[in-house]
Amino acid sequence: MSDVDTQIVQPPSGRVLDDKDLHFSEGNPFEAMMTRFDAAAQLLDLDPGLYKVLRQPDKQIIVSVPIQMDTGDVEVFTGYRVIHNVSRGPAKGGIRFDLNVTLDEVKALAAWMTWKCAVVNIPFGGAKGGVICDPAQLSDTELERVTRRYTAALIETLGPESDIPAPDVNTNERVMAWIMDTYSMHKRSNVMGVVTGKPIEVGGSLGRREATGRGCMIVTREALRHLGLPVRGSRVAIQGFGNVGSVAARLLEQEGLTVVAVSDASGGVYNENGVFIDDAIQWVREHRYIQGYPGGDAITNEELMSLDVDVLLPAAVENAITSKNAAKVRARVICEGANGPTTARADAILAEKGVFVVPDILANAGGVTVSYFEWVQNRSGYFWEEDSVIERLHTITSRSFQDVLNVAQRHKVNMRTAAYMLAIERVAAVHRIRGMYA
Ligand code: NAD
Repeated sequence: MSDVDTQIVQPPSGRVLDDKDLHFSEGNPFEAMMTRFDAAAQLLDLDPGLYKVLRQPDKQIIVSVPIQMDTGDVEVFTGYRVIHNVSRGPAKGGIRFDLNVTLDEVKALAAWMTWKCAVVNIPFGGAKGGVICDPAQLSDTELERVTRRYTAALIETLGPESDIPAPDVNTNERVMAWIMDTYSMHKRSNVMGVVTGKPIEVGGSLGRREATGRGCMIVTREALRHLGLPVRGSRVAIQGFGNVGSVAARLLEQEGLTVVAVSDASGGVYNENGVFIDDAIQWVREHRYIQGYPGGDAITNEELMSLDVDVLLPAAVENAITSKNAAKVRARVICEGANGPTTARADAILAEKGVFVVPDILANAGGVTVSYFEWVQNRSGYFWEEDSVIERLHTITSRSFQDVLNVAQRHKVNMRTAAYMLAIERVAAVHRIRGMYA
């Protein structure tokens, strides 16, 4: 293991980085997170010491991931794992395999996990990981080697009591099974609870695969009801047709909404009578992308954003809605299935237009909620029926929506600021009780 190159970047001592140091731009996800954090912290009148603590990730790890390619050549990939905060419980957060992964993105995503777990009040802290690679260019065996080597490089960090990964963009159940197996081999016993989003056969939970999309469906329904809009017959456009987008599409269709458009990295499809979702999913299964799907007219991702719909559901990547296109949004509700799909500058434009935004840290928390159920099942060794998983997810998601709405109404703020206020206050409360070890 001598060539596992692990670098831990400590937070700067004595001084907290400020925005001038970081040269933030609109598209920087860390800026997007910080801007919202700062606004909520100010409204909460957060203690200055706690403010400094919560602005910084606890730990940032950079690893080299050398693997032998199928050609026999050696390639070295870069991987990250950022632990943002563990005051409420073990760090929890997905792993992303993508060419666009950056340390700033992973830092933002890790912090969002802290706030997300606190919004839905489950006992986890926040973390995130990523490897800079294009899985589409890797063979199955190369992908497995990247996953196992990345896991091995993080062996001291990961653990069911310390840091628990899950799937994210371009990672799935199979990748989680490799992580679980690699970790278990190192520990010389099966440690199922080291990762969630696993296949059912190796300790996964029923209902986990659909959980994030199901959470999106539940909060969309809650938002429409809150606004006095009908659920049945409402029109939806969905950007991103992977795990989150396709499941949300299918469940919203089942609830009687009309999904008029879906898209992915290849482009989109529009059908004013509704895209037949099962058919579209089958098409993507066979052709990898939605492009060419014959059940509607081709549209671009940009066109999808400005469709005349009731609900817009970005479920792809960050920065889908920016200061450049926010004014064109015609939806009454945005349900943020993706993490960070709206920039901070776009927030202001949407607020002026009266768009009701269900923020990511609430809207896509269904995934981590059922990950929590999976972890509980792994610890107890007793597995629940799917109905039980779904019912508990409904209870937590609806209650969390109501909790955030209550804060929004009490403080006369939008749902995003309310969600951050609720989350920061819950994390801050634990810090106050635990005190500071020095
Ligand atoms: P996925 O890899 O299964 O799907 C991603 C989808 O987005 C694909 O259809 C892809 O083609 C599309 N896409 C990628 N780049 C795009 C672009 N530039 N324009 C349009 N479409 C693009 O990933 P996923 O698990 O569905 O995650 C999607 C989002 O949801 C991410 O932001 C992720 O962090 C977030 N999220 C996922 C989960 C989960 O449980 N999987 C939980 C919470 C949040």
